[in-house]
Amino acid sequence: MDPYKNALTQLNSVVSVLGTDYEDQKAFDRTVKILQRPQKLIVKELAVKGKKYKAFRSQHNDALGPFKGGIRFHPNVSREEVMALSMWMSWKCSLMGLPYGGGKGGIVIDPKTLTPKELENLSKKYADSFAAHFGPWIDVPAPDVNTDGRIMAWMLEAYEKKIGQHAPATFTGKPLSLGGSLGREEATGQGGAFVLESYAKAKKLKPSKVYIAVQGFGNVGYWFSLLAQKMGYKIVLVSDSSGGVYDPKGLTISKIKTAKDTYGSLLEVSKKLALKFINPEDVVATKCDVLVPAALENAITKDNAKTVKAMAILELANGPTTPEAEEILTKKGIEIIPDILGNGGGVTVSYFEWVQNLHGSRWELERVNTELKQVMNNAFNEVYKVVRAKKTTYRKAAYLIAVKRVIDAMILRGRI
Ligand code: NAD
Repeated sequence: MDPYKNALTQLNSVVSVLGTDYEDQKAFDRTVKILQRPQKLIVKELAVKGKKYKAFRSQHNDALGPFKGGIRFHPNVSREEVMALSMWMSWKCSLMGLPYGGGKGGIVIDPKTLTPKELENLSKKYADSFAAHFGPWIDVPAPDVNTDGRIMAWMLEAYEKKIGQHAPATFTGKPLSLGGSLGREEATGQGGAFVLESYAKAKKLKPSKVYIAVQGFGNVGYWFSLLAQKMGYKIVLVSDSSGGVYDPKGLTISKIKTAKDTYGSLLEVSKKLALKFINPEDVVATKCDVLVPAALENAITKDNAKTVKAMAILELANGPTTPEAEEILTKKGIEIIPDILGNGGGVTVSYFEWVQNLHGSRWELERVNTELKQVMNNAFNEVYKVVRAKKTTYRKAAYLIAVKRVIDAMILRGRI
């Protein structure tokens, strides 16, 4: 499954509706054609101590502002994956109302196979090699799967060394002592929890009656589960790549996290805490009200979509539902809150971090969360308005808003 093809299908699905808003059809068509591909795709081979690693940065579109997006370290990173992820970033930043375009990068590597020193060397090599393409007003990377604040610190160091000056606003998701923002670590999960809150309010659902299954127990899955539980929702399942632990009455997330940190995998946690274990391939079929994919793309495909029992899917991973699966789910009446809305909290707090760095200031956690809540609520309400007015899906509504803003910026700039 090629995520770039999925991203193109999603873009193309709103083109005919959007086209009716534009008088100059030729300009519109040309803009869409430009948006179907990244503006720039940089591919490099990084040589570190005799070993070679393939590395990418895809810069999709910067009509709304500098490129913005994470750097992923994973064996499955590919040209198509970064191209798709950078396109989704353009729509996400646009939907959230942030002054950014979309970017994404990655290295083909399983970081678990590296020593800490090798990881540091590789991270620094990446930032050094791509330095000419980065900068606070050019392209602002951040963590993604298997990368974190420690890696951003190494990248910042290598980048600043190369350009000969401090430039903390070039990377977000940094450790607090190097200009990171309070609330960034939990931002994506927190943003997802705010979206869940808005959705439950719109649907008149009582939190204590909403049962949730979460696939992925990394940064996003863990924080979302913890914060949603604090809001009163019942988390019946959390899973990692080893499988899931399940309790129909609701899990205590802090307890699961401590056990996972101690025993390594949720498979081990299920044995140690005597919890029901669910195989990884059965996670999406869990009996629940809201299914939350928070791991990787292509989690819900045409092969398992029929097994989904939830009434709604809140996408916190990027691209977890394929277009074919979405068709099946939509026919079943299952609502999908798309990734570009569900996980927009991460890039929003990255934006707050960038603003703080550019000002040389620091925000209190309360300010970060108050402003994050406002951005997430606004985005949800805008999407919900279009869902109701056009009787369409949440993804189409979100795309109609987000893609239009980018097209308008392209036309205003006279880039066509
Ligand atoms: P992470 O590396 O911290 O966690 C990933 C988790 O997914 C791990 O628990 C891993 O075990 C689990 N996983 C992998 N394969 C699985 C499988 N087959 N079944 C169940 N679990 C599986 O990564 P993260 O930062 O939490 O990112 C997760 C997703 O959220 C990615 O799609 C990422 O692009 C997206 N996202 C992350 C952020 C962020 O701020 N971290 C922001 C926006 C979107």
